[in-house]
Amino acid sequence: MKLLEERILRDGVALNSDVLLVDSFLNNQVDTSLMGEVGRAFAEAARDLRIDRVVTIESSGIAPAQMTAIALGVPLVILKKSASRILKDDVLQTEVFSFTKNSAYQLTLRPKYVRKGERVLLIDDFLARGEAACGAARLIEEAGAQVAAIGIVIEKAFQPGRALLDGKGYRVISLARVSKMGEGNIEFTQADA
Ligand code: 5GP
Repeated sequence: MKLLEERILRDGVALNSDVLLVDSFLNNQVDTSLMGEVGRAFAEAARDLRIDRVVTIESSGIAPAQMTAIALGVPLVILKKSASRILKDDVLQTEVFSFTKNSAYQLTLRPKYVRKGERVLLIDDFLARGEAACGAARLIEEAGAQVAAIGIVIEKAFQPGRALLDGKGYRVISLARVSKMGEGNIEFTQADA
């Protein structure tokens, strides 16, 4: 997605060769107009996949996932990163390790919001090592639904997440694929949409 690549080049900050900051339009402040374009791009790429539901991980997945769900006309379901104190029953959980935070969390789904046999489009903001996407896919499948595709706003193609998801047979739709980065330099490889 050319518009997204241009925005990453303009406003993205490569903290080092591994971590990309996009606080000004995705993680802290959200450019709602750009997210509208992101949502339409995912919806267009998934138009033949008969998506019943969009699922995302709180919190930075919500903005792009909501715009995608609106474009597809389907509900949005949010996976929480911590178990609710009120809802102790009726949850599916899996442990996910976050390399950016250097800690593990319990990714949590209320299965009543993902029904058996449904086709899910999973959306997240970043793909790095694939831990978050794999954890989310595990929960969706445990609920009896199918992961029809995984939509990623920014993939760091030099990290192993893509190979992991490809190896598990998931269809990955990345709108921007960073091939290399460092101070003052961000390079892209061919995106999926
Ligand atoms: P993974 O589980 O694929 O290793 O990492 C994906 C998750 O870590 C994403 O949901 C995102 O929140 C976070 N993440 C990984 N790399 C980056 C990065 O370079 N920048 C930002 N802002 N978040 C990242």
